[in-house]
Amino acid sequence: IRKQKHIPKAHYGGRHAVTMLPGGGIGPECMGYVREIFKYIGAPIDFEVVDIDPNVDNDEDVQYAITTIKRNGVGIKGNIETKSEASYVTSRNVALRNELDMYAYVMHCKSYSGIQTRHKDIDLAIIRQNTEGEYAMLEHESVHGVIESMKVVTASNSERVCRFAFEYAKRTGRKKVTTVHKANIMKLSDGLFLETSRRLAKDYPDIEHNDMIIDNCCMQLVAKPHQFDVMLMTNLYGSIVSNVVCGLMGGAGICSGRNYGEHYAVFEPGTRNTGTAIAGKNIANPIAMISASTSLLKHLGHYFHADLIRNAVTRTINEDRIMTPDIGGTASSSEVVKAIINNLGR
Ligand code: ADP
Ligand code: MG
Repeated sequence: IRKQKHIPKAHYGGRHAVTMLPGGGIGPECMGYVREIFKYIGAPIDFEVVDIDPNVDNDEDVQYAITTIKRNGVGIKGNIETKSEASYVTSRNVALRNELDMYAYVMHCKSYSGIQTRHKDIDLAIIRQNTEGEYAMLEHESVHGVIESMKVVTASNSERVCRFAFEYAKRTGRKKVTTVHKANIMKLSDGLFLETSRRLAKDYPDIEHNDMIIDNCCMQLVAKPHQFDVMLMTNLYGSIVSNVVCGLMGGAGICSGRNYGEHYAVFEPGTRNTGTAIAGKNIANPIAMISASTSLLKHLGHYFHADLIRNAVTRTINEDRIMTPDIGGTASSSEVVKAIINNLGR
């Protein structure tokens, strides 16, 4: 979805440069699979790989990564670890999204028929405010034993992400937008977000708008997920709801997510997990990162290559049923990738 005003122009020969941040845990191995697939189909992408050392306290690596994304306009990332527990060292993932002003996060979840799940045929999209709210990272100890943490909701960012959600619904032919909130308790902050969405909804008479309290929303999601179409929410609710939905889809390794701002876009696995415990064992599900790579190709206008990969992934899961153990299969990560590559040639 091209909300971005500036899609980077291809270089000479129709190729695009893209920043690749493998991150920690299973990130590097998953990026390896993406490169293998891109190479196989000759996708016109040149990756600029930036490794970020999780053990270093200064943010030079992160600043460099941000500079290359500013230059290329586009990135793909794994989860970047922040090992330091020093309170002045903030999450690098959050720093990256905030500094690039990628205010909207999109996670489109569509069930695979080949994956056994409680609910079939889910097809919904989560639009999440991505740069403020509970992730403002403004915490302090006002007096000894009292911690205050600020949740920041601004009219301008609420308006941008709500507009994004309705435009997304319009462009993708969706019927309903549900604002998820806790405005009954957080009357000012969530109240502003809810009011903004209600006001903007009036500009879209063909799209139904309703709202739901976050706690009820979680219950409704696990019980009756088909009532949802586009879901719109602030940052922390988005983190929780997107993980609930990934669980409904079969797990952490399937869906991908997209960070958008006016100028930059960065693609990543939907649950934003590091997967430290399963790294290096050839068991990580490669689908989430491969999905992120097809979103990246689409964003840059390389639809042919994007569809090729998407179709090969769908065949591998739904027809061949070659899957990693997390979604009920017995294949290793590399066997899944091999099956996808076989399907690319079909
Ligand atoms: P950790 O905190 O140890 O890094 P995460 O929070 O990253 O673990 O991941 C949460 C859960 O999701 C873990 O059980 C992890 O194994 C699982 N998981 C995350 N990504 C994948 C993947 N690509 N394939 C399979 N399982 C995954
Ligand atoms: Mg984790």
